[in-house]
Amino acid sequence: MSGLRIPLEGPDGAGTDHALNLLAPNPSEMTLDGTNTWVIGRGEEVLVVDPGPDDDKHLARVAEHLEGRRVAAILLTHGHHDHSGGAATFAGLVGAPVRALDPAHRLGEEGLGDGDVLTAGDLEVHVVGTPGHSFDSLCFWLPRDRAILTGDTVLGRGTTVIAPDGDLADYLRSLDLLRARAERVGAEALLPGHGPVLPDPIGALDGYIAHRRRRLDQIREARRGGAATPREIVEIVYADVDRSLWPAAEMSVRAQLAYLDG
Ligand SMILES: [Zn+2]
Repeated sequence: MSGLRIPLEGPDGAGTDHALNLLAPNPSEMTLDGTNTWVIGRGEEVLVVDPGPDDDKHLARVAEHLEGRRVAAILLTHGHHDHSGGAATFAGLVGAPVRALDPAHRLGEEGLGDGDVLTAGDLEVHVVGTPGHSFDSLCFWLPRDRAILTGDTVLGRGTTVIAPDGDLADYLRSLDLLRARAERVGAEALLPGHGPVLPDPIGALDGYIAHRRRRLDQIREARRGGAATPREIVEIVYADVDRSLWPAAEMSVRAQLAYLDG
């Protein structure tokens, strides 16, 4: 692969030869710098992944960037609002369908699922089903650039949470699957839904898998020590994490307890 772009000032403008991030202005503890909106393709036809929240300025900026190039489709990595909220507005701006795994988020006839291959000009995008963070999470493999768009399945910094509509067993399977695939195809970059580009896919995925195993061990140990409720477990296992993140941690602990007791 040539042309991995990692700007020092943050995720905006990052990417690979055929994938460019236009960062949405919705930073928070959960969304890091904001949502990454990915424009795939440099020719007359492009795909846009995750328009982000319904923010008129951001959507207009993305549309302007396209300079009249045709948007073959708008793709969603999953239906969470910070990725999908602006999809319908953006579809109206550029006259393109919205394709997602969850029918509730589609505009137009076509769905999106594991094994689908989309094109933008002569550029191929392969859809990989990666449920776990949410039930409808997808990743997109861009063979030309040896890059995988990971949505919230793998973030550019820190770790992701298992949302109430997700499942930890699915998530662990998806991480294993992504790792195996990244190794098989020789992936050279992960392009996440939030945070910076990751230039070492195998290292990042190994880190995620190890982190999950460690957390599960810590929860088993906290329970052996007498912690019973999700909150009590958070107070022990996430003691070193900022308290503002405890509600998210509690969500994650619930998902892990469901996994351990399931
Ligand atoms: Zn997100």
